[in-house]
Amino acid sequence: MSTIRFQALREASSRKPVHFEESGRKSALFGTNVFNEKAMKQYLTSDAFKAVQSAIQHGTKIDRKLADYIAMGMKEWALYKGVTHYTHWFQPLTGATAEKHDAFFETSFDGSDPVEKFGGAQLVQQEPDASSFPNGGIRNTFEARGYTAWDPTSPAFIFGTTLCIPTVFISYTGEALDNKIPLLRALSAIDEAATEVCKYFDKNVKKVTATLGWEQEYFLIDKALAESRPDIMMTGRTLLGHTSAKGQQLDDHYFGAIPTRALVYMRDLEQECMLLGIPVKTRHNEVAPNQFEFAPIFEETNLAVDHNCLLMDVMQKVAERHYFKVLLHEKPFKGVNGSGKHNNWSLATDTGINLLSPSKTPMTNLQFLTFFINTIKAVNDYESLLRSSIATASNDHRLGANEAPPAIISVFIGQQLTKVLDELKEVTKGKLSPEEKTDLKLNVVGKIPEVILDNTDRNRTSPFAFTGNKFEFRAVGSSANCSNAMTTLNTMVAKQLKDFKIEVDSLIDAKAMKKDDAIFNVLREYIKKLKKILFEGDGYSQAWEEEAAKRGLSNFKTTPEALKARISKQAMELFSEMGIMNQIELEARYEIELEEYAKKIQIEGRVLGDIATNHVIPTAIRYQNTLIENVKGLKDIFGAEFESIAKEQIILIKTISKHIEGINSKVGEMTEERKSANGLKDAQLIAEAYCEKVKPYFDVIREHCDKLELLVDNELWTLTKYRELLLTK
Ligand code: ADP
Ligand code: MG
Repeated sequence: MSTIRFQALREASSRKPVHFEESGRKSALFGTNVFNEKAMKQYLTSDAFKAVQSAIQHGTKIDRKLADYIAMGMKEWALYKGVTHYTHWFQPLTGATAEKHDAFFETSFDGSDPVEKFGGAQLVQQEPDASSFPNGGIRNTFEARGYTAWDPTSPAFIFGTTLCIPTVFISYTGEALDNKIPLLRALSAIDEAATEVCKYFDKNVKKVTATLGWEQEYFLIDKALAESRPDIMMTGRTLLGHTSAKGQQLDDHYFGAIPTRALVYMRDLEQECMLLGIPVKTRHNEVAPNQFEFAPIFEETNLAVDHNCLLMDVMQKVAERHYFKVLLHEKPFKGVNGSGKHNNWSLATDTGINLLSPSKTPMTNLQFLTFFINTIKAVNDYESLLRSSIATASNDHRLGANEAPPAIISVFIGQQLTKVLDELKEVTKGKLSPEEKTDLKLNVVGKIPEVILDNTDRNRTSPFAFTGNKFEFRAVGSSANCSNAMTTLNTMVAKQLKDFKIEVDSLIDAKAMKKDDAIFNVLREYIKKLKKILFEGDGYSQAWEEEAAKRGLSNFKTTPEALKARISKQAMELFSEMGIMNQIELEARYEIELEEYAKKIQIEGRVLGDIATNHVIPTAIRYQNTLIENVKGLKDIFGAEFESIAKEQIILIKTISKHIEGINSKVGEMTEERKSANGLKDAQLIAEAYCEKVKPYFDVIREHCDKLELLVDNELWTLTKYRELLLTK
C-alpha cells in the first residue's frame, strides 16, 4: 500500500478545527500593529510627526535630523510591543517580498554597553546583499550594489517580533530594482494628469488618488495532502491527476456555507489582517471545491498593493497553524476553475469625489464621462501593453485557455452607458447651440442614474468591466503582485488624460470655444474610436476571437508572445514620456520576466518527468506484476482455456505497457527539448522554445499518467488523488 498517501489521508480526515477565539472587536484591533497616525502622534515629537505627514501627503523630503527622531519614536513603539528585530521590507522583481532582519540589539566592540539601537540612517536606508536578486543586467558586477530606501507613504508594521519598514529597492545608478518605484512614479503621474483635468470642473481639487480594491481568490488544501504531492510542493499546482468524478458540476460550493475548518482559518487570518491594518471585509466560497475569496475595503493603490503582498505572506503563515496549505497558483487543478485577482480601480479626489461614479448633476456627470471615456480610450490604445502586464507562466493557464477572462483585452460598460456614448457621438462639431447643450445636459448627461442598475458585473467574461463606480480589471493573476498591472494601467490613463487636456485647451485657445463645448468635442471624437475595444458579448466564444482579430485587437495566448509589448516602441515612448521607467528599466523587466517564464516551465518539466518516471511507472509495473501473477495462476489452473478467462487481464497488461512506453519516450523527448532550449542564447528564444517545444509534452505525458491512474489498483497508487485533495473538508 502507498504509505505517504494513506498516511496523509488518515491525518487529514481526523483533523478537527483548531481552537481560535477573536481577541477583541475588529474596530478595536484594527491597525494596532501599524505605526499609523495614532501611534505616530503618541511616539513622535510634533516636528517629526509633521515631517512624516507632509512626506505622505506631498512627497516632501525628510531631513536627517528628523529621521533620527522618527526612528527613535518608531523604535520605542516597537520595543514596547515586544519587537526585537527590524527589516526593510521590499518587492524585488521576483514578484515575492523580501526582507533581511537585523536586531535592534548592539554592544560596543568589547561586549560592554548592550543597548537597543535604531537611528535615522537605519530607518532610511539598508543594504541587502542585492547581488542575488534578479536585475536583468542593470547591476553589472562593478556596481553590483543596490539599496533599500524608506517609503513613508506605506506605514511600518509589526509581524511577529519584527518591525517591517516598507521600502523601495534601487540601484546606485538610480534604476528601479523593484516593483514599487515604477508604481509610485505612475501614481504620481496620474495624480498630476487627473488633477489638471479635474480643474475643468472644480478648481479646488489639489490631488487625485488612484484607488485599488483587490479580490483575492485561493485554494485551501489540507497540509498533509498537499505535502504528499511533490508537484504541489514544488510548482504550486498539480501536474497530473485524473479529474474527480464529482467536481464543480453541481455548483454546490459557490456561496454555500463555508466549511468549519476553513472558516476558523479565515477568522484567524482576518484577525491578523486587522492587527496589520489590512481592511479585509468579505469572505466567501468560490466556484471550485475548496476555493475561496477574500476582499478588502479599497485603499490608496500603493498601500493596497503592499497590503495584498503582505496578505499573501500572512495567508500562508496562518495556514500553517490550521494545517492547511494555501494555493495561490492561477490553475492548481485541471478541470476546475482557476483563481484570479480582480483589481477594482478608480480615481478619487481630495474633495471626496469618486471620479468614476455617476452623480446627481449634469456638470459632475460630464466630469464622470470625461474620466470614464478617457479610461476606455487608454485601454483602447494600449490594450496589448495592458495584456503584457499580467503575463506569467501560471496566468497563461487562464488567459487564452477558455477560462475566465480571455487573452483578448476588451471593455464592458453595459447597455445604459453604451446608449449614452452613442448619443454623445452625435454631438455637433464645433460650438454647440444653447438648445443642444441644454438637451444634452438634461437628457443624456443628466440622465445617467446615480447608481447604475445595469447588470454590469454580470458579464463575467469581460477582462475589463465597468461595475457602476469603478473599473474591474479581472485578468490579473491570483499569485501576481498587483503593481505591474497597476503601474501600467495608471500610466496609460495618465498619458491619456494629459493628451486630453492638451486637446481641450487647444480648442479653447485656438477656436475660442467654451470649456464644455471643447470637452464635448474631444469626447465625441474619442467615442468614435472606441468601437474597437468595447465589447458586450461572450468573451469565451470562438466568434469573439474572430471578431477581435478583425478589429485588430491583440490575442496573445502565451507569455513569450505577450511580453514583446513591454519593449515595443509604443511602450518605450509611453513609459519614458511619463517618467515611469527608462529603456534600461523596461528591458531589464522584460528580460527578467522571460527568464522567469523559462525557469518555471523548466522546473515543471523536471518535476513532471520525475513524478512520471519515479512514481507513476513503478506503481504501474507493480500492478502489472499482480496481473501477470494472476494470468500465470489462471494458466496453471485452466491450461489452454486461460486465454479466454484471462482476456481482460491480458488487455490490461498490454495497455499498461503501452502507457509506460508512452511516458518513457515522451519524458525522454521532453528532456532533449529542454537541453536544446537551454543551449539558446537569447531570452526571448529560450522562453519561446520552452513554450512551444517543451510545454506541449506536459499534456501528452499527463494523459498517459492519468489513464494509468484509472487503471491501477487504488490501494497501490502513491499520488493523492483529485477527489481527496479537493473534497476533503
Ligand atoms: P462585488 O464585486 O463582490 O459585487 P463590490 O463591487 O462592492 O463587490 O466590491 C468589490 C471590490 O471593489 C471590493 O474590494 C471593494 O473594496 C472594491 N471597490 C469598491 N469601490 C471601489 C473604488 N472606488 N475604487 C477601488 N475599488 C473599489
Ligand atoms: Mg467585483
